[in-house]
Amino acid sequence: MSKVYPLERIRNIGVIAHIDAGKTTTSERILYYTGRTYKIGEVHEGAATMDYMPQEQERGITITAAATTCFWESTSGKDIQINLIDTPGHIDFTVEVQRSLRVLDGGVVVFDGVAGVEPQSETVWRQADKYGVPRICFVNKLDRTGASLDRCVGMIVDRLAAKPLVMQLNVGLEAEFSGIIDLLEMDYITFSGDKGTEVNRGPIPASHVEAAKVAREKLIETISETDDHLMEKYLGGEEPTKDELVKAIRAATISRKLFPVFCGSALKNKGVQLVLDAVADYLPSPLDVEAVTGINIKTDEEVTRAPDPKAPFSALVFKVINDPTGMGKLAFFRVYSGTVSQGDTVLNTTKGKQERLSRLYQMHANKREAISEVSAGNIGVSLGLKEAITGDTLSDIAQPVLLEKISFPEPVVKLAIEPKNTGDQDKMGKALRALSEEDPTLHVASDEETGQTTLAGMGELHLDVIVDRMKREYGVEVRTGRPSVAYRETITRAAKARGTFKRQSGGKGQYGDAAIEVEPSEKGKGYIFLNEIVGGSIPKEFITPIDKGIREALEGGIIAGYPMVDVTVHLVDGSFHEVDSSEMAFKIAGSMAIKEAAAKAGAVVLEPIMKVEVVVPEDYTGSVVGNLNSRRGMINSIEQRGNAQAVNAHVPLSEMFGYATDLRGMTQGRGNFVMEFDHYAELPRNLADELTGKGKDKK
Ligand code: GDP
Repeated sequence: MSKVYPLERIRNIGVIAHIDAGKTTTSERILYYTGRTYKIGEVHEGAATMDYMPQEQERGITITAAATTCFWESTSGKDIQINLIDTPGHIDFTVEVQRSLRVLDGGVVVFDGVAGVEPQSETVWRQADKYGVPRICFVNKLDRTGASLDRCVGMIVDRLAAKPLVMQLNVGLEAEFSGIIDLLEMDYITFSGDKGTEVNRGPIPASHVEAAKVAREKLIETISETDDHLMEKYLGGEEPTKDELVKAIRAATISRKLFPVFCGSALKNKGVQLVLDAVADYLPSPLDVEAVTGINIKTDEEVTRAPDPKAPFSALVFKVINDPTGMGKLAFFRVYSGTVSQGDTVLNTTKGKQERLSRLYQMHANKREAISEVSAGNIGVSLGLKEAITGDTLSDIAQPVLLEKISFPEPVVKLAIEPKNTGDQDKMGKALRALSEEDPTLHVASDEETGQTTLAGMGELHLDVIVDRMKREYGVEVRTGRPSVAYRETITRAAKARGTFKRQSGGKGQYGDAAIEVEPSEKGKGYIFLNEIVGGSIPKEFITPIDKGIREALEGGIIAGYPMVDVTVHLVDGSFHEVDSSEMAFKIAGSMAIKEAAAKAGAVVLEPIMKVEVVVPEDYTGSVVGNLNSRRGMINSIEQRGNAQAVNAHVPLSEMFGYATDLRGMTQGRGNFVMEFDHYAELPRNLADELTGKGKDKK
């Protein structure tokens, strides 16, 4: 039974980084030093403990946000519980990053000491800003050729417009990197013993005393600017005490005025324990962050829930994992208020259903430990929730609250799949249901007519990973089509139309008649149906079928088979027949009306436009820009980035398939790029014609 930690000694943190900066290695070391894993799993051997999904180990990237609990006693004597919330590094999974940012209180941002602040570091940094997450920085890989703490600190200022507080200096660099100077204690730290578990403190080498003094002076000056009391002392030439400094640094970190910077090499076992000390000293506990707000669903009023174990229970499910070994569905949730015990029944406020938490666990890497209760500020894992999916709120039945939803972007890439083994159809369906429960950005659709199953997701890699997981975890191998773009349709102007469905053949006839007016809805508002029938020209019971007929027609697409979005439909008139009218007839009438209206309303195909950033050595800028232009890209800016250039552009997604390979070829492997969905824009006419089949005869 694990010990219960008071709130002020809990840290819900995530290690946030650009892919390859060393997030996995750093997390591994954290778990090693905190004594929970007894063997260091090197990433390249595929034995890392945090990444427990097999294909993550193979790819060496961390995709899913799992939470792991460990314990640390800091040098300053603080005994803390750390809930390490894993965040993925690949851009295709930024939504996973966002979801983790929602539930963590502080972050350790890992930078590659050679590359410094990379495009993706910027993306995740901005997201952490958005969610108000306090951070400390760890400049990793100082053992690598070309590493520089100074340069990385400079980039934090220039690229992130953040104020770093340099807490340490390195002694030696690259192969000579030997230890770290602690500017608060003014001592020199080296690491020895098995995997650097022994932390030795001694005097600063004579060669570095001067530099350390200067750096400490700068540290005190910087921190004094955030604290009046320290400023007075500083101006009076008085030396602040260590306790005063720690207190002020903690306050400035939590208020995000400053970002303390630490350094080391996770791989060479230098510096990670000091980062853990800093987590204890500077990152917030659940008491230091604002109380969460939500809506009381009974009164519709906004309510706040303080992190108090005695308050009514509220929690947010931030990750669901279907355990393929048959354990069932594991739901990771962050408790914001109150306490929940094993066996309790709670309300899934999002679904409006009661659910029982039949078992509660705390996760330690890939082991789980049964616990009897979990309370405010902590992370729980439950078995037994049937309905809950990622993003759902759980709350006290008597005092229901709905916390702000996690918003998920629309999928932009589609992939048709079918089981290699025709007998696996059911198994595939089951796997896809489980996977889409875990991952709200995965959409699964099956075409009733053709029986074809289509996956839609955030990018090529995202869908690759899903296909891989189906095989490994659910034993279903599938054949895939080529990835394609999730186009959409919309209308560009208002129009009127009438749909009349009449059948008279022998027995009972069919009759439905609906007149509509359509207009474009505001972007993102979707389909809006307004019943404006006056005088009962259509009886009430036929209104819903009309709505349904229109909705289904829109979903199926009207001009090119892609869902038509952002359409407002006014049902203005119609007629009916006493005997022959039926729900079915009105549904068909609705569908006929919208098809005709859309054709008159300037329907167009929309394509997803991606925000792309390519970073390349200057020599290649010309060819990269030319190539992006040939992909219908719009170059927005070209900036100097150290000795490289960053090209920012908007490019249609359809032109970006296979870009990674092309870029590698174009730049001898020296170019990097990131992209994320930005907006939908009208597909040029000639391309739209190809999609709708109109262009075919021209070829
Ligand atoms: P992630 O993608 O951010 O999770 O990064 P990983 O932890 O997987 O590290 C990426 C690569 O960098 C791996 O090959 C690691 O062995 C290597 N690496 C991580 N930390 C260090 C370090 O401190 N020094 C050196 N030289 N390599 C490192």
